[in-house]
Amino acid sequence: MRQVFVRRYLRGPYVSWAQATHPVGEDERGLLLWLPVGADFACRVGLDGDPLRDAPGIEDYGAAPLQRRTWTDLDVLILHPPGAAHSVWWFFKNKGFHGWYVNLEARPARRTDAIDVVDHHLDIVVTPDREWRWKDEDTFTDRTGVPGFWSEAEAQGIRAEGERVAAAIEAARFPFDGTWCDFRPDPSWPRPALPQDPL
Ligand SMILES: [Mg+2]
Repeated sequence: MRQVFVRRYLRGPYVSWAQATHPVGEDERGLLLWLPVGADFACRVGLDGDPLRDAPGIEDYGAAPLQRRTWTDLDVLILHPPGAAHSVWWFFKNKGFHGWYVNLEARPARRTDAIDVVDHHLDIVVTPDREWRWKDEDTFTDRTGVPGFWSEAEAQGIRAEGERVAAAIEAARFPFDGTWCDFRPDPSWPRPALPQDPL
C-alpha cells in the first residue's frame, strides 16, 4: 500500500472534506486507516472561518473555499467494513482509548489510493464502556427530503443501518469487542500529507 490514503467526503459534485490518512492494511474485516494528530486535512470554510459541516444546500459547498488545515486533538483509527454504509472510528487521546464513533455514510466508492464517502449526517457516539447515543439527529431530519440529500425512504434505511450497528455495540460484537482499543501506530509512519490537489 502507499504511504498516504485520502478519505474524501462528497456533497453532490463537490469535495466537502478531504483527510490524509496512513493506510494500515486491508483484510476481510475491511480497510483500516490511521488519522493522527498533525495530519493534513482540507475542508470547506464558511464566512465565519469555521469548517462548513452542515450547509443547508449543495451549492453552499461549491461556493465555499476549500482550505488546508491540520488535524488536532484526537488520533483516530478508521475501519471501512467491506461494502458497509458506515465506518467505525476508534478515538485515542494521549495514547489512551477514548471511545468509538460510527459515521453513517453511503457505501463508499473505492479507488487505489482514496475512498469517497457521502456523509449521512446521523452518527453514533459510543463510550469505552459501550454506552451509545445518536448524534446530529436534528440535521439528519432537516436534510431528509432535500434535493441532493436523502429521501424519506432512504432516511429509514440509514437509521436501520445505525440500529444494526447499535445491536453490535450492545452485544460487544466485532468491531466493538475490544479489537484495536490498544492500537498504536508504527513510529516510522510518516505524517499523512495531502497531495497537492486533493480534488
Ligand atoms: Mg457523519
